[in-house]
Amino acid sequence: MNALRYLTLCVALCVAPYADAGDIAIAIHGGAGTIERADLSADQERQIRLTLETALRAGHQRLENGASAVDAVTAAIVVLEDSPFFNAGKGAVFTHRGNNTLDASIMDGADRNAGAVAGVSHIRNPILLARRVMDESPHVLLSGAGAEEFALDQGFDFTPAKYFYTEHRWQQLERARRRQTSQLTVPPVEFRFGTVGAVALDKNGNIAAGTSTGGMTNKRYGRIGDSPLIGAGTYADNDTCAVSSTGHGEYFIRAAVAHDIAAQMRYADRQLENAAHDVVHNRLVKLGGTGGIIAIDTSGNIALEHNTAGMYRGSIDAAGTLTTAIYADE
Ligand code: ASP
Repeated sequence: MNALRYLTLCVALCVAPYADAGDIAIAIHGGAGTIERADLSADQERQIRLTLETALRAGHQRLENGASAVDAVTAAIVVLEDSPFFNAGKGAVFTHRGNNTLDASIMDGADRNAGAVAGVSHIRNPILLARRVMDESPHVLLSGAGAEEFALDQGFDFTPAKYFYTEHRWQQLERARRRQTSQLTVPPVEFRFGTVGAVALDKNGNIAAGTSTGGMTNKRYGRIGDSPLIGAGTYADNDTCAVSSTGHGEYFIRAAVAHDIAAQMRYADRQLENAAHDVVHNRLVKLGGTGGIIAIDTSGNIALEHNTAGMYRGSIDAAGTLTTAIYADE
């Protein structure tokens, strides 16, 4: 072997393992459910896709600037919380009592630090409060009045309840209440959720996940779903993957969806795509659970899986390609 070929080989061998170092990627969802083409006007669809794109770009821009995956996830979710189209922040669904109680969580795959809030009613961006719980408290999950007291201590503004009101969510509640036959039964929900979430990979090879929701229309007083629960709605671990869930929360809690995907990778050596597919299309379906997930691993592989007719979703992959989708056949 001549000297030049030897040198070229050495360089190739040294560089190869790190060829993908510095890759960045992000994926988001805006909820899964019965989303058919006939349900959305052309204008609604355009605006929803535009909001998904704005959220993706908000997160991706931060990643490009060298921010952490946690920062990117937070930035993308804030955009979705501020949009009235999704069931998180502005536009959250109503409880049976006619108010909005919001849940959110975030997890850093680098050290598995996590923060979450449940049942807050006066916090404009619950994901920012979940983040603060992670960064500034010794706890993982704060709920209700305690979470709001912590928010005020941390300098958050008190957002009046009327900020969260949207007419279409109120009409959804009215329809759900009319269908409810007794105080004990909760009628089948209108199966169009709208929870939001994001997962990201940053330049340092760290991944993170976050989720934010108003929960389910007509939910009982005190009901908490999967979204603020680490291991169900959100999970991130650099050794496996970062996951954000959306769907019928009770089933996602019972199936420990987010953690199960990570566990299949860790203990059964499955690839991200296979693990995500198995949990969403087999294990969840066997329980009767409907919904979907977004997930990413440290190689920048992205999984967007749902067992419903649609899921608002999008990604900017490691090659920089932006895609958004709504329906199952996209
Ligand atoms: N998973 C959420 C909950 O059960 C709802 C959703 O994803 O839309 O609270």
